[in-house]
Amino acid sequence: MNNFIDSVYHFSGQNTLELAKEYGTPLYVISQDIIENQISKLKESFKDYPMEPRIYFAGKAFTNKGMVKLLDNLGIRLDTVSLGEMVTAKEAGMSFDKLILHGSNKSFEELEYALNENINLIVVDSIEELELLNNLAKKLNKRPKILIRVNPGVEAHTNDLINTSRIDSKFGISVNETKDIINSIEKYPNIELKGFHFHIGSQITEATPYLQALDKVIELYKLALENGLDSVDELDIGGGFGIQYVDTDIEFDPIKSIKQILTIIQDYCESNKLPIPLVSIEPGRYIVGPAGITLYEVGTVKELDGIRTYVSVNGGMTDNPRKALYNADYKAIICNRELNDSNKKTVRVSGRACETDDLIDAIELADPKRGDILAVTNTGAYNYSMFSNYNRVTRPPVILLKDNKKSILVKGQTISDLLKDDLIPEWLE
Ligand SMILES: *Cc1c(COP(=O)(O)O)cnc(C)c1O
Repeated sequence: MNNFIDSVYHFSGQNTLELAKEYGTPLYVISQDIIENQISKLKESFKDYPMEPRIYFAGKAFTNKGMVKLLDNLGIRLDTVSLGEMVTAKEAGMSFDKLILHGSNKSFEELEYALNENINLIVVDSIEELELLNNLAKKLNKRPKILIRVNPGVEAHTNDLINTSRIDSKFGISVNETKDIINSIEKYPNIELKGFHFHIGSQITEATPYLQALDKVIELYKLALENGLDSVDELDIGGGFGIQYVDTDIEFDPIKSIKQILTIIQDYCESNKLPIPLVSIEPGRYIVGPAGITLYEVGTVKELDGIRTYVSVNGGMTDNPRKALYNADYKAIICNRELNDSNKKTVRVSGRACETDDLIDAIELADPKRGDILAVTNTGAYNYSMFSNYNRVTRPPVILLKDNKKSILVKGQTISDLLKDDLIPEWLE
């Protein structure tokens, strides 16, 4: 699907040079076909499990109205973490019984909105929040369904900054405290406990850390049912399924790894004579990461004698802060020239920001020159959603490709968009 035709890089079957010409650069390009393909692998992994999969897309990876609509059409639910994401879902017409609300510090306003919209699930992140929610629910005459976010204390082998489940973490409630909640659930009559959630980190490549967490969390499921909490019927194993940013990365294989996790859940329930729970997953990166590329135009090419060549592009850390934040690796391609032995060159790709702003430390490209179009691949997740206006740069548009169709998903910002919120205090006039 992605290849060179007449020496022009095609993404999702479409000519990237024509896209760059029509919409300008930088440009976020998202392929609906790839999103659909990723989702079908996730669905496939549930094939032998007796319950319907509950797939919540982690909205923080890439949310806008069109994306929510697309997910809704594909039977995918939404994991939200803010009023902004919830209202986006509402505006896109997604029913709130498809929504889950996360957050380690949800505001009163967010909880109230979620309750009034009868959200499907609220994931409670602390005992204090449980008390707050119980009181708020009483006041609003609601009885929200909740999952408890458990911190299972597992060290997933991933970047420190995206590992969220070691003991020393702001996220979740410890296993022991969760047991206390189960044993004294009558203290919270205005909430309905539906189950347990964990999310152990991101860019995970295999089942092992999930199984380590599950080991502890499934005991809580058993305890709850033994205590007669019949409402408990769901285990949410979070997201974090890794993708292949560069050749050395291993992509998480849901058909193998999710199946493995589901088999263990099923076996455990059968041997303990427990009902089989609904299992939820919350992938963000896995669904949309490989579905996106970013197109840039090459500007200054600076050869530092005996050191390296810097290839500057007209975007960078403002549209893709993951290198700056996580030292993330990416691959790139010169769209108008195929790489072959005669013109290979190892270069550093730099962004335009007034910072070091290296986008790719070292990569072989086909002799980049001013005016070339460069595609950075696997930018679908945590790029558009993490955009910043640093250096007062405007956000590029996002376009969606489907078969041979293309359409704008999010308009690019204009300079007047930037200026419209600025006010000059009257005493400065
Ligand atoms: C970030 C996050 C996810 C999604 O992570 P990915 O790596 O994008 O799959 C899912 N659930 C929770 C609670 C998260 O914080």
